Amino acid sequence: MTQTEAASDHTPAASQPATDMDVIVVGAGFAGMYLLHRLRGLGFRVQVMEAGSDVGGTWYWNRYPGARCDVESMQYSYQFDDDLQQEWEWSERYATQPEIIRYARHVADRFDLRRDIRFDCRVAAAHLDETQDVWRVTTEGGDTLTTRWFVMATGCLSSANMPDIPGVESFRGAIFHTGQWPHEDVDFTGKRVAVIGTGSSAIQSIPIIAEQAASLTVFQRTANYAIPARNRPLDPEDVARIKAHYGEMRAQAKKMPAGILFQANDVSARAVDDAERQARFEHRWQKGGLTFLGAFNDLLLDEKSNRYAADFVRNKIRKTVKDPKVAELLCPTNIIGCKRLCVDSGYYETFNRQNVHLVDISGSPIEALTESGLRTGGEEYAFDCIVFATGFDAMTGSLLRVDIRGSEGRPLAEKWQEGPKTYLGLMTAGFPNMFMVTGPGSPSVLTNMLPSVEQHAEFIADCIAHIAGNGLKRIEAEPEAEEAWVAHGDQVAGLTLRSTCSSWYVGANIPGKPRVFMPYIGGFPAYLDKCAEVVANGYEGFRLS
Ligand code: FAD
Ligand code: NAP
Repeated sequence: MTQTEAASDHTPAASQPATDMDVIVVGAGFAGMYLLHRLRGLGFRVQVMEAGSDVGGTWYWNRYPGARCDVESMQYSYQFDDDLQQEWEWSERYATQPEIIRYARHVADRFDLRRDIRFDCRVAAAHLDETQDVWRVTTEGGDTLTTRWFVMATGCLSSANMPDIPGVESFRGAIFHTGQWPHEDVDFTGKRVAVIGTGSSAIQSIPIIAEQAASLTVFQRTANYAIPARNRPLDPEDVARIKAHYGEMRAQAKKMPAGILFQANDVSARAVDDAERQARFEHRWQKGGLTFLGAFNDLLLDEKSNRYAADFVRNKIRKTVKDPKVAELLCPTNIIGCKRLCVDSGYYETFNRQNVHLVDISGSPIEALTESGLRTGGEEYAFDCIVFATGFDAMTGSLLRVDIRGSEGRPLAEKWQEGPKTYLGLMTAGFPNMFMVTGPGSPSVLTNMLPSVEQHAEFIADCIAHIAGNGLKRIEAEPEAEEAWVAHGDQVAGLTLRSTCSSWYVGANIPGKPRVFMPYIGGFPAYLDKCAEVVANGYEGFRLS
């Protein structure tokens, strides 16, 4: 019997109470879209609920100037359907947001997804009715639907972080957040613009805003490392070569710690002399992109090796930025790669423009927005537009913004008040039949997210089919398995330098958020092996009933 037959034979089982849906999926980003396709193929009745007005998730919301992926397009794309990956033509090494959203829409059309997605529909609450093993999912509009299986595909970086700065309502100009960018064109021509933040979103948008604006002032709390993207149109010969061996390439990528295929150098930065070290860093710098950190095998493990890489980038900044004071301010002092590495197109060069100014706010936070601008360090600055490039309440934000209650009515927010706990980033004990895609405790944000969301969607869909096909009705993470997974996650996090700084990986960007290193850093291959072993052992660590 195929899994499809197994599922349709048992959904809904005659002995179980009828539900409006077999599965409700929250979110229609790449995760929710693929889940819908996969679950529908297995014979389930699926409803996707999406707060936005269209598919695409991250790429629906983040429309700021310069937004593009920093994992190469040929890898940052679905692989579940070979016809799709053969037919789709990416135009650049790193696709722009408009191209990625076109791709998401194409996938929605190709697999006829929209008919099962409710757009403009934000889920407010999901409560487990344990007497019937049913989830009641309530939208902000007040509708409630029942479902046996409930999946949060709400994204790791989808709850915009708007800092709580007094006076926001008094500012008479326009306010933007990169993660909630308007759908209409925003024209900064002739405007005095402020950008708050210097993370990936700021670093992508600053060079373009600077070209348009009369003046641009960047408010920097912590300087960040950026590696040149060296973006370029894709060479048709390279594309043909990749497509001829796409399957092999995807399989190779899954053997890499971040799920991204590139030539890694399995040598310590301490094992070579200075000339060779500089040459290897220079080679990566010229190639461009995130794989700079693959120049040596211990850049995220050994402080001295890390310092070599950091010094190399700092020297590049000093050579690029003409004003030595500005260059020094732009030189990060922390571990390179501890906060997520940024990939730029002309970021540091932008600070050589006459109309661009850098304000260091590391010692004096923005005190208030005023009618005409903002105030920091006792000084007033006047602007027409203020852009918050202040990031996200990452990994847990979108999960905890929904009032989720599991067994005995216990809120997820209460269970996670000292930090998130999950088994494999897929389920959390006490919340039966509720799954998360790329939840805390999964490799997610430390990997190419497309293969990560595909792997989770496949795990979840196959798991539901397995349970339904075996006449069961409930799956739940065992508390002991969860504790062991959390302890393992903490232990591997402690082995790397990545867990040592105040990044969004540890929740440091959100006041009051518990400090826990949230993603699983043991590597994509180890995680895939663990998931495969769990399934082979009859969903070991999960209680099926
Ligand atoms: P999302 O795309 O975040 O989709 C989640 C969806 O859930 C959203 O549409 C949201 O509206 C919806 N939602 C959330 N809460 C609710 C609710 N309560 N009710 C209804 N709907 C809800 N990753 C990479 O690997 N490479 C990259 O180059 C890369 N670039 C990025 C660039 C930016 C600007 C950002 C912000 C992230 C980037 N990422 C990148 C990470 C990116 O989030 C993932 O690659 C991927 O798009 C995640 O897909 P998803 O479906 O899991 O989540
Ligand atoms: P981010 O990395 O969290 O950066 C936010 C920036 O805002 C930081 O510089 C932060 O300073 C600053 N900030 C936050 N609150 C502030 C406050 N109250 N006052 C002053 N400054 C404040 O967010 P992001 O740039 O949106 O990126 C988030 C993640 O999304 C990335 O790490 C990446 O995973 C993904 N992304 C990828 C791309 C890409 O290239 N494909 C582009 C954008 C985003 P501190 O550092 O001091 O906290």
